[in-house]
Amino acid sequence: MSKFIFVVGGVMSGVGKGVACATIGRLLKGKGYKVSAIKVDPYINVDAGTMNPTEHGEVFVTEDGDETDQDIGNYERFLDTNILSTNYMTTGRVYQSVIEKERNLEYGGKCVEVVPHIPEEIIRRITKATRDTESDIMMVEIGGTVGEYQSVLFLEAARMMKMQNSHDVQFILVSYLPVPSKVGEMKTKPTQYAIRTLNSVGIQPDFVLCRSEKPLDDVRKEKIGIQGNIFPDHIISAPDVGSIYEIPINFNREHVAEKLLKVFGWATRPDAPGIGDWEKLNNVILKAEDEVKIGIVGKYFRTGEFVLSDSYISVIEAVKHACWHFEKKPVIEWINSETYEEDPQKLIELQKYDGVIIPGGFGSRGIEGKIKAIQYLRENNIPFLGLCYGLQLATIEFARNKCGIMDATSTEIDKNAPNQVIHIMPEQIENIEQGKYGSTMRLGSWPCTLAEDSKSFAAYGQKDITERHRHRYEVNNEYRPRLEENGLKFAGTSPDGKLVEIIEVPDHPFFVACQFHPEFKSRPTKGHPLFNSFIKAAMDKETKLPLI
Ligand code: GLN
Repeated sequence: MSKFIFVVGGVMSGVGKGVACATIGRLLKGKGYKVSAIKVDPYINVDAGTMNPTEHGEVFVTEDGDETDQDIGNYERFLDTNILSTNYMTTGRVYQSVIEKERNLEYGGKCVEVVPHIPEEIIRRITKATRDTESDIMMVEIGGTVGEYQSVLFLEAARMMKMQNSHDVQFILVSYLPVPSKVGEMKTKPTQYAIRTLNSVGIQPDFVLCRSEKPLDDVRKEKIGIQGNIFPDHIISAPDVGSIYEIPINFNREHVAEKLLKVFGWATRPDAPGIGDWEKLNNVILKAEDEVKIGIVGKYFRTGEFVLSDSYISVIEAVKHACWHFEKKPVIEWINSETYEEDPQKLIELQKYDGVIIPGGFGSRGIEGKIKAIQYLRENNIPFLGLCYGLQLATIEFARNKCGIMDATSTEIDKNAPNQVIHIMPEQIENIEQGKYGSTMRLGSWPCTLAEDSKSFAAYGQKDITERHRHRYEVNNEYRPRLEENGLKFAGTSPDGKLVEIIEVPDHPFFVACQFHPEFKSRPTKGHPLFNSFIKAAMDKETKLPLI
């Protein structure tokens, strides 16, 4: 019989509910149990794919091609396991299947109602994901904050599950305790109200995780316990930390996993792996002093840098993992590509980085600046890693400056241009013409065959790999001979050779760009092969300019 742990948020969003959920999952895994995690997003969108990055942050892509919330990425990184589409659910998805079933007469002529049919569909999905992943314990994170209308039906489903199997279901409230600067003390009242709000939908939290700037003291623990009807022992202090990777260590100190298991009547398994690998990782993070300076040339979103970094969270994490792999300290800086359009003199500043990444992206704003940056990196032997759009722009740059096709571009930038070296896949043309954008990209895991004399092959140490994709456009095969003649290496292609997956410039310390997103498969305790070799090349770079 599987167990379920629901993680809900109180007081406000953005306090690390996803990481808390992933952390607890990791600790339970350390106790020898098979753990998986589900993310519930209460919005109507069927997936995160159609949302603007400023609305949603990163769209995380799963092996089976789902476009999900970035928390799925946290689950994968912390649990070191692939999470599939069955583990992601939105209100839109739930309603869509209920409506489809109704249309197919699967409700046998009954009146189909919001309650109980919507919560029943939610329970069906949770149960199916648990069965499919053969999990002993399923973590279920309900997005948003208790008290919001849109999460009510998910909470109702959770309540029904608890009612049916009271010993198999627990609730964790991740709350926030402010320390107002004028008052100077930590306030528990918002958390007390959050508990009551949860009570009002028939749910009593078993645990409260208290997020705050500072650790929680005993006085406040007692207050929350008495007011909220919770064992003081189940009120967990979760102060801010320097790195999210410290959280498992902190929660472990508070014996969170043991306490949860005790409520289920379970114990640590004799063959439990523990969390030794995380302790080792944290030692590296704390001790690493030698810096590797990586620049990421991106587009500047109006809402500011914070959102920009949220939109590239997997890239940032992958850089960190690879640096830690070599026991180095990552230093990551953002560069707004439009700066180079306004003032190409600024390109020289790229010299201060040990390596530069051009990440994925969409649309035409900031493109010329990115292309100028790529040219500079190529001509000045600065290690470069291009991801998805990064490959497409590197191909355009090479076509322009090495093959003399000065008007080379992508269909995405100019659909009437004569030289579209990056173009739309023929199968996608129809979708675009009909205005169908949701789920119409090349998505999920695709195989790739590497050329044995390439840097990529040296990085992976094998010929056949699979990586995750999320894009609509591809290298136009008509231009391949000309690009190749001028020195561009097609280091990886689809097994049938038709799709370009990796390009390299051989006579360069490290100029590698891939059509896929390796960042989605990077894990903290290992690092991804391509990122690892990029960082190695960055470490070997001789600094030509003093760091500014
Ligand atoms: N805009 C490009 C495409 O759709 C690249 C997408 C990306 O970088 N994820 O093909």
